[in-house]
Amino acid sequence: MKKQISLLSLLILGTLLFTLPMSLKAQDNNGQQSADESDQKWAIALHGGAGYVSPNMPEERKAAYMAALDSALAIGVEILEQGGSSLDAVEQTVRFLEDNPLFNAGRGAVFTSEGKNELDAAIMDGSQMNAGAATGLTTVKHPISLARIIMEESRHILFAGDGAEQYADQTTVERVDPDYFKVPARYEAWKRANESQGYLESQPNNAWKMGTVGCVAVDKTGRLVAGTSTGGMTNKRYGRVGDVPIIGSGTYADEQVAVSATGWGERIMLNVSAHRLASHIRYTGASLQESMNHLVYEILNEGEAGFIAVDRQGNISMETNTGSMFRASQSEGGEKTVAIWK
Ligand code: ASP
Repeated sequence: MKKQISLLSLLILGTLLFTLPMSLKAQDNNGQQSADESDQKWAIALHGGAGYVSPNMPEERKAAYMAALDSALAIGVEILEQGGSSLDAVEQTVRFLEDNPLFNAGRGAVFTSEGKNELDAAIMDGSQMNAGAATGLTTVKHPISLARIIMEESRHILFAGDGAEQYADQTTVERVDPDYFKVPARYEAWKRANESQGYLESQPNNAWKMGTVGCVAVDKTGRLVAGTSTGGMTNKRYGRVGDVPIIGSGTYADEQVAVSATGWGERIMLNVSAHRLASHIRYTGASLQESMNHLVYEILNEGEAGFIAVDRQGNISMETNTGSMFRASQSEGGEKTVAIWK
C-alpha cells in the first residue's frame, strides 16, 4: 500500500515537473503574443469628398459638415477602440455618411443626366486581398453593405446595374424607393450643371459638387480595409462608371496600406491612383506621406483629386490638390483631426 502511494506520488511529481515548464512556456508565448498585438495601433481616416468649397461658406453649413464628420469618426473609433475589426469600422462609418444627405453617397447622391441617382461602392480587405463592389445601384439603401456582402459571399468582385440589383435581391440588404435618394440641393446642382453644359466642362475651374464618402482603417490585428461610396458626378451619363467601384483606382487595400479616393473619377482611373500609391510604397520604400505627395502633387494635376490612406504602422495621410476635402482622422494615442481646408 505504502509502496503504491509513493509510486503514485512519484508519478504526480513527474507529471508536474514535465508539464510545468510547458505551461510556463505557454504563458510566455501568450505574454509575447499580447505584447505584439498591443504594439499594433489602430488608426482610421474618412473623407466626405474633395473639390472646392469657399472658406466663406455659411457658418451654419460649415458647422453641420464638421458635426457630421465628427460623428462619423466617433462610430469607427468606438469599434476600433473596443478591439473590433477595421472591416466593421469602415462599413459602419460609411453607412452613417450614406445616410447623411450632406454627402454625395446614399441619400443625397448627385443626379445623373436623366435626373436619376445611380450609386457606386466598393470595399477591400487587404488582409485577405479580397474585394466587393457594385455600380449603378438604384434601390440599395447602403451600397457599402452590398459591396461587403459581395466581397464575403460571392465568387465575383464587381456587379453592375440590373445584375447588381438582382444580386441584392438575394441578400438581406435594405431596399428603398429610388426617390429616397433625391434631395433638393442636389436637384438644384443638377439643374445648374445642365444649364452650364454638363459636368466635364466644369472640371478645369474645379467647381464640381463634392461629397463622395470613404473610410480607411487598420485595426489592432493589423488588418487594413478601405471603403468608398458615391453617387458619382453630377450629370453623369447613363451607365457611366467612375473610379470608386474600380478596385485599384478609387479603392484599394493590401497588407501595407488602405486607400480611398475622391474627385474627378476619370482622372483617378487613368492614373490607377489608389493602387499607384500602394505600389509606390512597396517598390520605392518611400513613406506613406512621401508616396501620397508624389501621387497628389506630381502624378495628378491641380484640382483633380484627394485621397485618404492609413498604413500598417498606423500612420495617416490625407491630401487633396483641389483646395478642400471634408475629412477626419484619429489614431490610437494620437490627435483627432476634423477639417475641410488646409
Ligand atoms: N470620384 C467620384 C466619381 O468620379 C466623384 C467624387 O469623388 O466626388 O464618381
